Amino acid sequence: NDERRRAAIRVIESLEKEGFEAYLVGGCVRDYVLKKTPQDYDVATSARPEQVEAIFAHTVPTGIKHGTVTVLQDQTSVEVTTFRIESDYQDHRRPGRVKFVSSLKQDLARRDFTINAMAQDRHGRIYDYFSGIEDLNDKKVRTVGNPVERFHEDPLRMVRAARFVAQFDFELDKQTELALLKCKQQCVYLSVERVTAELEKMWKARRASKGIGILFTCGLIYSLPPFNNWKIQDVPGPDQLAPMDWTDDRIIRWAYLLFCCGVSSDNAQSRLREFRLSNTDIAAITSCFRLGAEWKSLTETTAKRLLLTEGLTNVLKASGLAKLLRRLPADVFLDKQLQKWWDEMPVTQVRELDISGKELVEHCQQPAGPWVKKTLAYLLEKVALGQLPNQKNVLLKEGCYFGANHSQ
Ligand code: ATP
Ligand code: MG
Repeated sequence: NDERRRAAIRVIESLEKEGFEAYLVGGCVRDYVLKKTPQDYDVATSARPEQVEAIFAHTVPTGIKHGTVTVLQDQTSVEVTTFRIESDYQDHRRPGRVKFVSSLKQDLARRDFTINAMAQDRHGRIYDYFSGIEDLNDKKVRTVGNPVERFHEDPLRMVRAARFVAQFDFELDKQTELALLKCKQQCVYLSVERVTAELEKMWKARRASKGIGILFTCGLIYSLPPFNNWKIQDVPGPDQLAPMDWTDDRIIRWAYLLFCCGVSSDNAQSRLREFRLSNTDIAAITSCFRLGAEWKSLTETTAKRLLLTEGLTNVLKASGLAKLLRRLPADVFLDKQLQKWWDEMPVTQVRELDISGKELVEHCQQPAGPWVKKTLAYLLEKVALGQLPNQKNVLLKEGCYFGANHSQ
């Protein structure tokens, strides 16, 4: 991390050598004051994007329209953005145009919250025009300037306010909170992708329940895509949301959110699709949701059967969710027991069996059909539970016997 900071400082030095101004800005300055490790280092400069590209040997035009060039420096990358303000917010989504400006202060003034609107020069000096340090000390999330105007410009800032509260366990400043209540309906203009990205950041936050709580209590969620067409019946109170903070697993947190919104097992998958998550994520969250909701206490045999059909990862996530739903304390014992049972099984997948479907069909002299898959699943369970050895001749004999009775 120190390495990345040094790389960013070196970028600043190179820009200054060419006569430009350059500073660390945004999250990395906030995190420096909080003594936390930043996600990434952002640099703001008076140099135009073309000038930045000309100064450094290795650059990527990441967001050249918005003035951002990624500089590859010392094995890491630094985002360098020209001082700018945003204009043309008419579509309520992203600024249509950006305008480059000459002063750091103007650049800082367009940023969302005071805690995110500080800069730091390469000597460590902090530029704090909007009382960001004071708000950090007071643990307050406050917009730079008039919150109603700032939320109108970009409604995502309302969701971001909730996210920063969750991330740092802060509170909303009073005026900022009132503006949120007033502007909440503007959220209908947001794209699902931007909402999903903020939720993903929420799942990394220590007090996710606090951020989600704000979405409910301030009423944002009823206007926020995709929740705004869900007809959410009961508003979860802080007590119902609290267990969300007992895990840091994003899959379990997604599943728990669905519960808080009153989604049923049958609807989980289609609801998740609305967030445009990847198919892998949708499958993992759906499985966690379904198994977690129907969780029953397990014996060795029922646990092993479940492990065979669902896989260890899914079962562990579901047990994690079940704990939250039952408000049980983190149960390391059960996770260890599940892992032990998993490790104990000599086979966990059909392809590990000493026979294939083809061999089964040939040996049993029965035409291939659904019985083959059923028989293999049956044999897998027998071998996994230690009731049959994983030996070709034994499996063929038992398989044909079973297959003959289940050929319909
Ligand atoms: P994190 O540590 O989670 O990355 P961050 O503060 O770096 O938090 P980013 O979303 O990476 O947040 O944005 C970087 C900076 O850009 C912010 O600190 C803020 O100054 C500014 N910013 C980002 N999004 C907005 C927005 N919608 N409106 C105004 N300023 C924004
Ligand atoms: Mg960032």
